[in-house]
Amino acid sequence: MSDGRALAREFLEQQRQLGGDSVILPDGPTPGLRPGSAGPRDSAALTPGASPGKSKATPDHSDSALPPPGLSYDPPGGDLFSNDPVPQAISLDAIARLVAGCTKCRLCEGRRHTVPGEGAADARLVVVGEGPGRVEDETGRPFVGPAGELLTKILGAIELPRERVFICNVVKCRPPENRLPQFDEMAACVPYLFRQIDIVKPSVILAMGGTAAQTLLNTKQSLGALRNFVHRFRSIPLIVTYHPAALLRNPNWKKPTWDDVRIARRLIA
Ligand code: URA
Ligand code: SF4
Repeated sequence: MSDGRALAREFLEQQRQLGGDSVILPDGPTPGLRPGSAGPRDSAALTPGASPGKSKATPDHSDSALPPPGLSYDPPGGDLFSNDPVPQAISLDAIARLVAGCTKCRLCEGRRHTVPGEGAADARLVVVGEGPGRVEDETGRPFVGPAGELLTKILGAIELPRERVFICNVVKCRPPENRLPQFDEMAACVPYLFRQIDIVKPSVILAMGGTAAQTLLNTKQSLGALRNFVHRFRSIPLIVTYHPAALLRNPNWKKPTWDDVRIARRLIA
């Protein structure tokens, strides 16, 4: 595979062809939330139709306002005194071992490999997708098929090599024929995801696609309604964007995705 800079160049050229804005890659620590701009709010704080406050007139978004605060979800962490090993797992490897033996939902029946997730334990960005596809099921690694190649390019474009990010999914076993995970499957599997996020303690979460966004924000709102806000998961800023598989089908969404990932990049403390 070519190096991150080559991938970044390719992605940026693609953006330019798509009419993307000029690209500003910050070289130092990027500004975080301004004080008081995005404190945790409850669901009622999501103003329907609120404008994300982007100015189309200014091509340089590097110091434009961040999107307004959105939803905030703070699920309980699990009972440390129960017999449940998931909240007690102290490392990503421990979670991966629990996932490898998991039979909590029917998705265990058709899997070849579990796909717990991979990346840096001290990652500042956690990327969450939906569930493993065919190549992921064959290899046990997240986002390594065609959608994964695109994700790798997107991360390269914000100068975050894949290895420095933690990449995972809502469900850790492949749904048959890549169907959407069902509600009970996601409910059975999310404790692993929540514990992974607790262990990594990222400064930003990027939810790719409706399944990840709805699960991490505990909402049924559409992806379109959830974009352009700085949400919070257990007080960690969370940005919602399109799923890379959707981008492969609809290249028109690449430009808005690029805007979203730049916002996520700016929020990385
Ligand atoms: N799509 C996902 O949501 N996750 C993967 O790991 C691969 C494709
Ligand atoms: Fe267990 Fe999650 Fe796999 Fe279901 S999808 S069997 S809950 S690891």
